[in-house]
Amino acid sequence: MANPSVTDCSGLLGTPNSIFQPQNPTELRTFLSDHPNLALRIGGGLTGVSGGAVPDAHETYIDLSRCSELSWYDHDSGIVIAEAGATMQSLHDLALEGGWQFPVMPGSKEKATIGGMVACNGGGPLSLKYGKMAHWILGVDIVKPNGEEHRWGGPCTKVSEGCDWKSLIVGSEGTLGIITRVILRCAPSLPSLHHYRFASDDFFALLPLIPSLLQRDAYLIEIADEPALRFSSQAPESVLWTALPSPWTGELPKGIRCQISEPNQLDERFAIGYGLQDYKRFIDLDVCFPVKNACAALRQLQGWFDLHQFEHVFFGHAGDGNYHIHVFFNDDVEKWQGLCPEFDAMVRHFEGHLSGEHGIGKIHRNRLNRPVESIESAAYIALKNVLDPGGQLPTAT
Ligand SMILES: Cc1cc2nc3c(=O)[nH]c(=O)nc-3n(C[C@H](O)[C@H](O)[C@H](O)COP(=O)(O)OP(=O)(O)OC[C@H]3O[C@@H](n4cnc5c(N)ncnc54)[C@H](O)[C@@H]3O)c2cc1C
Repeated sequence: MANPSVTDCSGLLGTPNSIFQPQNPTELRTFLSDHPNLALRIGGGLTGVSGGAVPDAHETYIDLSRCSELSWYDHDSGIVIAEAGATMQSLHDLALEGGWQFPVMPGSKEKATIGGMVACNGGGPLSLKYGKMAHWILGVDIVKPNGEEHRWGGPCTKVSEGCDWKSLIVGSEGTLGIITRVILRCAPSLPSLHHYRFASDDFFALLPLIPSLLQRDAYLIEIADEPALRFSSQAPESVLWTALPSPWTGELPKGIRCQISEPNQLDERFAIGYGLQDYKRFIDLDVCFPVKNACAALRQLQGWFDLHQFEHVFFGHAGDGNYHIHVFFNDDVEKWQGLCPEFDAMVRHFEGHLSGEHGIGKIHRNRLNRPVESIESAAYIALKNVLDPGGQLPTAT
């Protein structure tokens, strides 16, 4: 019987040579030492939107979603030890039940795994206040393709013993090692916050609010333009959601409507991501700009999309300057591929980055264009030679 295909939320599809689903890290180590030299592809919740977990035909797909044990290392100081396949939702629930919170929560939390979030250095709405995944990791266990296991870091919250080795695996997207366990710290429960929903007929009128919300110590600033909001709401408007530690007292610029809202009003924002999945074939451009450049950058990109007649939506984590731009192809992928270098040059012109949280995966690999002679490429290759000398995992160069 043919192997089942594997797909993630990018829509990319791959049929691996074989599939292995370990129940725990020990089973994985035994499998790898008994089967040397396999080409490997690692996957967790398959909510990635960059195709990084989608296997090629010669690869064995290692599905870590069954390695999902999760428990307190020390409840009193808020430290959790989690197998990589535990979902972000289960981490969220454990933290809440214990009187803590885990502040990095992606819109995909029901399926996204802790291993996948570490591998992509994922974020969420509260990352504006609390940082991304990297900020909450104390230690990681990684398994090399030959089955050897190593722990970097541990349960201490403060260590200065040279390089912070565990950080090397953060953002490595399954190319340097297999994350099997993660030691994480939780944050104290959220204080009570004042939630607001600002709406306007003009998306660009909302963006100048952002610096004043940052000065008010906003915990989150999320945004969606009207075409994006159509995927989750009937309201024909663009919306900015925020949560502040004290009530909003400022004057509102003309044309902006403000409503006091509830924390669950953010569901309106989160529903956009899944709503888009079933619409048309798209590419998810997860760009990030310095906040001061974001308005000018998005205006220029908007004009450029209109010029080339690309249907698109803007939404994302505006407080971090991180916008998810979904471009729909109407089956003209080649047109997009031809114009993509122009898009990337505009992002770089505004001192932006190609991904703020979704990673590079397979889909954006060619766009990164990191010169082989760069210091980053040399450091990555040296690391790869140590951790994956047989080149069994995919490569990021
Ligand atoms: C509706 C929707 C909303 C989303 N919202 C957010 C959001 O708010 N914030 C955010 O950051 N992302 C978001 N994402 C993107 C996605 O959920 C994240 O990229 C997440 O980190 C992927 O986790 P996963 O377990 O699904 O990983 P997968 O898709 O299975 O894999 C992603 C990458 O991680 C690698 N990987 C997975 N597990 C391991 C492991 N154990 N060891 C080594 N490498 C591994 C894979 O090889 C691959 O390169 C969203 C996606 C969707 C569809």
